[in-house]
Amino acid sequence: MVCSAKGCRQPAVWVLAWNNPKLHTPDRRKTWLACDEHREYLSRFLGLREFLKEVVPLDEWRARNDA
Ligand SMILES: [Zn+2]
Repeated sequence: MVCSAKGCRQPAVWVLAWNNPKLHTPDRRKTWLACDEHREYLSRFLGLREFLKEVVPLDEWRARNDA
């Protein structure tokens, strides 16, 4: 699992869950992965568009979605 930032090859440690209300139903979640370095950058990108729903550690996201 690699960070979603363009050109980044760092292992992802964060999941950014987002939703574009023009494209997705409200309960749908798209996800981006982020390393520590790019978490803030990617969060801001989604936050400015008001798409960002939550930022969750990758381990927690997996645990939640395996349950
Ligand atoms: Zn990165």
